[in-house]
Amino acid sequence: MQVTTLGEALYPSPLRYFVSDSLRLAERIIQRPDEKMTDNIAFELAGPREKLFFDAKNTRAGIVTCGGLSPGLNDVIRSLFLELHHAYGVSHVYGFQGGYRGLDPHLGKEPLLLTPELVDDVHKKGGTFLGTSRGPVDTAVAVQNLIDKQINILFVVGGDGTQRGGYELYKEAKRQNYPLAVVGVPKTIDNDIPFVSQTFGYLTAIEEAAKALDRAHVEARCVNNGISLVKLMGRNAGFIAAGATLASQEVNFILVPEVPFKLEGPNGFLAALKKRIQDRGHALVVVAEGAGQELLQNNTQLKDASGNIILNDIGQYLSTRIKTFFEDEDIPVHLRYMDPSYLIRSTRANAVDSVLCDLFARNAVHAAMAGKTGLIIGKMHDKYIHVPSELLASRKRVMETDGMLWHGVLASTGQPASFY
Ligand code: ATP
Ligand code: MG
Repeated sequence: MQVTTLGEALYPSPLRYFVSDSLRLAERIIQRPDEKMTDNIAFELAGPREKLFFDAKNTRAGIVTCGGLSPGLNDVIRSLFLELHHAYGVSHVYGFQGGYRGLDPHLGKEPLLLTPELVDDVHKKGGTFLGTSRGPVDTAVAVQNLIDKQINILFVVGGDGTQRGGYELYKEAKRQNYPLAVVGVPKTIDNDIPFVSQTFGYLTAIEEAAKALDRAHVEARCVNNGISLVKLMGRNAGFIAAGATLASQEVNFILVPEVPFKLEGPNGFLAALKKRIQDRGHALVVVAEGAGQELLQNNTQLKDASGNIILNDIGQYLSTRIKTFFEDEDIPVHLRYMDPSYLIRSTRANAVDSVLCDLFARNAVHAAMAGKTGLIIGKMHDKYIHVPSELLASRKRVMETDGMLWHGVLASTGQPASFY
């Protein structure tokens, strides 16, 4: 799987170690007896190249952060800048403000010219100091603005939507015959980007979510028939709920988008919850925001500014259903519904995520300086790789329900494999 390059790389790199352009990493490293390896995709390895397409002294770069917050955004901006500035000697690096709107001079503020002083301690804080937003930008206007500002490289830091946006910008620049390197750094606390085994911010998010679960567990255990219901993020995939469940080890039931469930009936969730309350007198329930959407009526399919469907609130719905169920059963319970969703992602990155941020960012710079474009930095089998942006749309990454993570979750909660 080769990524597009803008042209022949002729400039010598000022760096001292290099990764060959011809090395590949195969997607599947475990082979089943009945499988052929011929359709096994192989990716370019990320890393510094010996020859560069861009001449650093005549090169300008821009950085934009879009979509929701994730711990580590500031670390990524900082490492992108420092690698460009110190390692390659790129003197003009701009921070576009307020997400993709910042690429349109009529909509956004002027970009900031980054300096070592400006980024000095930004990684100590959560959020993104450049700001972020949802909503589209006119790609023709954005590319014209990049041309006017003589920007040759654009780093797009964000989730699936941002990377689709980056791909549109790459295509528009190509259409205008402007040699622009668009390199994506994948961001999402949900950990659901294909070809990225771990996105930055995920581990910090589950660390924070596990703290919330521990506290919710204390609330439930200290009252008679206490039930704590905690909603965590995870629109399409239950990685945060599953990771926090394993980290906390206090969860009794977990509901995720990958595993549909029934509320009623002898094998349904409510019967299992009743048994748990009768046996143990307290319960901790975790629900991912995308779980059980099929149970909710009046699905209005409202969309946000970026075109993402606004999900119905499964937490509120479950809370009501649990309450009425126990009233009907004449079992008094103390039910508390907690929604710490946003509180887990605005913190600064933990140490492991900070390391990830730094390596994702520096590899993005290496790819861009070599003239690679229309790609994101991925991570597979512990190696950083180049993934063509268009490939992202062809896959969804969800938790495998026959995999080790979900089996570990079932083992730690003791819940049945299915509520059907
Ligand atoms: P997250 O979902 O983790 O918050 P995201 O990057 O998916 O991150 P979105 O709000 O969906 O967040 O998208 C970020 C930006 O990308 C928005 O400005 C949005 O308009 C733009 N975008 C989304 N989809 C597309 C697309 N198909 N083409 C062009 N731009 C897009
Ligand atoms: Mg998204």
